[in-house]
Amino acid sequence: MKIGKDTVVTMTYKVVNAQGKTLDQSQEPTAYLHGGYDNTLPKIEEALDGQEVGFTTQLSLSAADAFGEFDETLLKSIPKSEFPPGVKVGGQLRGRADDGREHVFTVVKIKGDKVMLDGNHPWAGQALTFALKVVEVRAASAEEVTHRHAHGAHGHHH
Ligand code: ZN
Repeated sequence: MKIGKDTVVTMTYKVVNAQGKTLDQSQEPTAYLHGGYDNTLPKIEEALDGQEVGFTTQLSLSAADAFGEFDETLLKSIPKSEFPPGVKVGGQLRGRADDGREHVFTVVKIKGDKVMLDGNHPWAGQALTFALKVVEVRAASAEEVTHRHAHGAHGHHH
């Protein structure tokens, strides 16, 4: 079966940065719903479209095509009093940025009574190479298409 709209693709992956450092590697295969559901990067869908089980690729993406350029407007400083007690460096929370969109902010520094937050993806600003291997392709169920994500062992759990 070929990868196309409304197929569930199971793959293994490895993510390497421009310095050759491995940032992430699948411990077990991961599944996503193919067809523009924002389940994975558009460039990855483009590379896999029309391919079959066994397909492997090394995909080198610019920062813009991966997790975006580093955006300084997503750096925020907020009074510590606005946080629940126990806020720690490395902790994450959801919040709205000045652009009105929701981002995951990471606490990068606590200085005096200020908490510094960074709403960029941890890999923003980095050119990345993805080594991908397709291990399964199947038709998505009607429920998966309705939910806009893959179910099953390697997919989304409710
Ligand atoms: Zn679901």
